[in-house]
Amino acid sequence: MSYTGRCYCGDLHYEFTGPIHSQILCHCRECRYLSGGAANTSVVISEDAFKWTKGTPSIFERSDLEAPRTRYFCGKCGTHICVKSPPRPGMLVLKIGSLDDHSWFKPESAIFCIDKQPYHILPEDLPAYQRVP
Ligand SMILES: [Zn+2]
Ligand SMILES: [Zn+2]
Repeated sequence: MSYTGRCYCGDLHYEFTGPIHSQILCHCRECRYLSGGAANTSVVISEDAFKWTKGTPSIFERSDLEAPRTRYFCGKCGTHICVKSPPRPGMLVLKIGSLDDHSWFKPESAIFCIDKQPYHILPEDLPAYQRVP
């Protein structure tokens, strides 16, 4: 199975192949900056299976953290595409909103619910964790 996506302005295009290792909703404070306020809606994929097919992403890493995430985004329109996370070596956490088709997304867990806000409504049958499972 292969997947394609792009940033809002179209300067960046990417593709990757499955498998999708997990599908998550993250409610942590950091994610709310990047999502705009909703839960961060992401899939975990293999870094090896991913490639940029157009453009070069801008990169951001916090300099005040010992093991910062590496964030890949469009330097023109600001769309945040994916992140490399030291706790998940060899993986990318990709926000589903930039996928051409993300209608198949079905969250498997809600994480960092310790930071969940009253307006974050979870599906009733979704396993929810205060931090991570
Ligand atoms: Zn863009
Ligand atoms: Zn988060």
